[in-house]
Amino acid sequence: MKSEILKLLRETDGYVSGQQISEKFGVSRTAVWKVIRQLQEDGYQVEAVRNKGYHIVGSPDVMTREELESQMKTRWAGKNIMYYAVADSTNLRVRQLGDEGAPHGTLAVADRQTDGRGRRGRSWESPEGSSIYMSILLRPEIAPDKAPMLTLVMACSVAEALRMCVESFGDAQVQIKWPNDIIINGKKLAGILTEMSAQVDYINHVTVGVGINVNMEEFPEELRQTATSLRLECGHTVKRATIIARIMERFEENYDKFLHTEDMTELMESYTSMLVNRDREVRILGAKEQYQAHALGINRTGELIVRRADGTEEAVYAGEVSVRGVYGYV
Ligand code: ATP
Repeated sequence: MKSEILKLLRETDGYVSGQQISEKFGVSRTAVWKVIRQLQEDGYQVEAVRNKGYHIVGSPDVMTREELESQMKTRWAGKNIMYYAVADSTNLRVRQLGDEGAPHGTLAVADRQTDGRGRRGRSWESPEGSSIYMSILLRPEIAPDKAPMLTLVMACSVAEALRMCVESFGDAQVQIKWPNDIIINGKKLAGILTEMSAQVDYINHVTVGVGINVNMEEFPEELRQTATSLRLECGHTVKRATIIARIMERFEENYDKFLHTEDMTELMESYTSMLVNRDREVRILGAKEQYQAHALGINRTGELIVRRADGTEEAVYAGEVSVRGVYGYV
């Protein structure tokens, strides 16, 4: 009920009377008052005025289940929410929830991770109170070899949502570094990690995890050159729950588009328009070889199309390589 009352307060411009709330939810006015007091204790600024009712004037920057539920406008993405003040890794939490039968769209969110991870065993810096660590559980009925494209579907959704949330940025600065990083002004703002539990020809479930540096003001020495946060780039703090709700909305729509064709056909335009590598010289770092090429864009299956110095074009598969700029990270 806390989330519902919060939602009602949010959606009402003026005051909502205790009577209105108690009638709407079929509870006593004392019960309503208790919830309001709890919200105030949680850091919500709710004004209570005699003969008028309640009015919300401020919210804390928290990602609790109540806060997220009160902002979520989706049908299935992020409707079942698990919040952890501390988690080892939200991907690990979601994998376990998936094994235990949690529904498609279950979202795990943590304020801090003790074992945040990146691709190929790398780690993800995960301090508390300033970033988003979240993972969504998916149960797609597609062939396992198509699941890696979900990384691109999420990258597209995160970039679109951030462009909506931080209008003052102007569109050009939020971009995607193929395949899985979100970039602002050439630095890494967010990373995406997709993991799968599958049989040879059947997916049990897929976990798509996202880490976003929101209000971080500084980074460890080794990341200073490449990492940044929304706060550092736009000069003001941004509420994390709002960003999560927007990402879930964009993801729900984009996931449906992906399922129509089971590839990137309907998302190519949006993804490519935000692709930082497009029309740039890149270094392809593979296990067997490293070379320089001209990146042209992605194909329908989400591979990066590059043109080598000798003019030959080829599609590079994300699972096998890292991509860097010729002079730096992008
Ligand atoms: P590659 O392109 O080589 O595959 P990546 O950019 O996809 O790398 P990920 O595996 O997604 O990298 O993320 C892990 C890497 O991201 C770490 O090795 C580290 O360099 C960097 N990193 C770790 N934590 C953060 C953070 N909070 N913000 C930005 N970058 C980070």
